[in-house]
Amino acid sequence: MQNQDFYRTRIRKLLDEKNAILLAHCYQEKAIQDIADFVGDSLELARVASKTTAGTIVFAGVRFMAETAKILNPDKRVLLPDPEAGCSLADHCKPEDFASFKALFPDHMVVSYINTGAAIKAMSDYVCTSSNAENIIRAIPEDQPIIFAPDKNLGAYLCKVTGREMVLWDGSCMVHEAFSLEKLIQLHRKYPQAKVVAHPESEAAILRIAHFIGSTAQIREYVRTQEAETFIIGTEAGIIHQLENDAPHKQFIPLPPEENNSCACSECAYMKLNTLEKLYRCLADESPEVQLEETLLKNALRPIEKMFKISP
Ligand code: SF4
Repeated sequence: MQNQDFYRTRIRKLLDEKNAILLAHCYQEKAIQDIADFVGDSLELARVASKTTAGTIVFAGVRFMAETAKILNPDKRVLLPDPEAGCSLADHCKPEDFASFKALFPDHMVVSYINTGAAIKAMSDYVCTSSNAENIIRAIPEDQPIIFAPDKNLGAYLCKVTGREMVLWDGSCMVHEAFSLEKLIQLHRKYPQAKVVAHPESEAAILRIAHFIGSTAQIREYVRTQEAETFIIGTEAGIIHQLENDAPHKQFIPLPPEENNSCACSECAYMKLNTLEKLYRCLADESPEVQLEETLLKNALRPIEKMFKISP
């Protein structure tokens, strides 16, 4: 096991030698965020992936994100440091189950959150992210019924803000769903001046209390532009690294999960599977590589392109 400097130097060298770009989600560990060429949320990363001229994309995130980069760049090599980096939302929406569910509502359009595997995207009319989901839903004619998958919490939030009734797939993010309302109330008593920010994957009770609800990119923007000095952060704690970079004089308190949760922190175990060492090895070996079948790539691209038309 080498120290972090060892990996940092070699990763940057390999990225140059192999004409590769390192994209990192803001839920990644700090050391990975700090050496990435770009750090952002799902929408920002998809945009950068769609425009890069690099021949290889190394994706420090989870599998559905790396798959999205591959769908947008079928001719490029996309590497994912740990192939086990899944997502509770994407993994609990299996293609065969979703096909049966969809068949129950033949006149419905499907809007799927980007946190899905390529096969679910291929069965969708639109893909959306938490940054643009509201715009996508509003762009669909009001008399057109919609299935929204796979996040029931984001879906319920969208029903509320758009006034649309949608059929929701019963999925959730294990990190956002674990946030404790009781601890949020305790924290708010302790820091009465603090602003509460929450990701819309959180449960309705948390969202009801939040001063601001948004994607990770929107939360960053909110924190940057608010006069408040203290923020209670209702999303994965990895974002705090970027918030501290953006506003070093402000204080950020991660919202803890329920007492009986198996993890005592607000971190995504899947996101944290990636390490500098795995990053180095995957660049050196050019493996594990994301491989998707050609027809699937084509069919999954269509709803993503439709998303970019509405949310350029
Ligand atoms: S934080 Fe939740 S939605 Fe994001 S990758 Fe982890 S399990 Fe999936």
